[in-house]
Amino acid sequence: MLACTRCVDAGHLAAASVVLPEPVPSRVVLVGQAPGRREVASRRPFSGRSGRQLFRWLAQAGCGDEAAARRAVYLTSVTKCFPGPARHGGGDRRPLPAEIALCAPFLDEQLRRLRPRLVLAVGQLALARFLPGRPLEQLVGRGFDGAGVELDWPPRPDRPRPWILPLPHPSGASRWLNQAANRELLALALERLGALLAAERAPGPGSPPSPPAPPAVRSRGQGTPCS
Ligand code: SF4
Repeated sequence: MLACTRCVDAGHLAAASVVLPEPVPSRVVLVGQAPGRREVASRRPFSGRSGRQLFRWLAQAGCGDEAAARRAVYLTSVTKCFPGPARHGGGDRRPLPAEIALCAPFLDEQLRRLRPRLVLAVGQLALARFLPGRPLEQLVGRGFDGAGVELDWPPRPDRPRPWILPLPHPSGASRWLNQAANRELLALALERLGALLAAERAPGPGSPPSPPAPPAVRSRGQGTPCS
């Protein structure tokens, strides 16, 4: 992945700038849109302003501070390179469908190797990957099973995995959270995320085995969902 230049070769990017996830062997996987300029500079996912907001949300869900959340959740994105700024301001350019298709095998491989039990799909692009064709208002605050069927609450443990929990994009450029009703949906989503993470931590006969080594290069400690 690190040496990939597919989007450069296809004329979509001037230069590739792959940001690798930190290789925590967690079965909780968060999928965002794409790295930003800050992430390229730090070589670390979610290290910009959107990331700070995201870690505040994760703290609200019981993940503790940023360092604890980074140890507990495998953080990745739909595309792995900075797409550049939006042409008319207001944040980063949204990757094209062709870029998403070129990068899809990397996300597919990450999911295949980690076998997540819970996927946090953050923002429209990630939601289009896991739950296409549904507006944010019909997603945030709800959970879905691996077949895309909405989960009852609390979810029955036999529903197919991974369960998908939608979240809006944490970027300040997003206006979705300007509406009070949408902020209530986000609060509900974080409350439910907290309950799901607590259930993942609880030992029991259905406790999942540790996943195999994740697809990245740096080495860190074993991740446990927001312990
Ligand atoms: S976005 Fe993905 S497919 Fe495109 S160059 Fe970067 S790693 Fe390769």
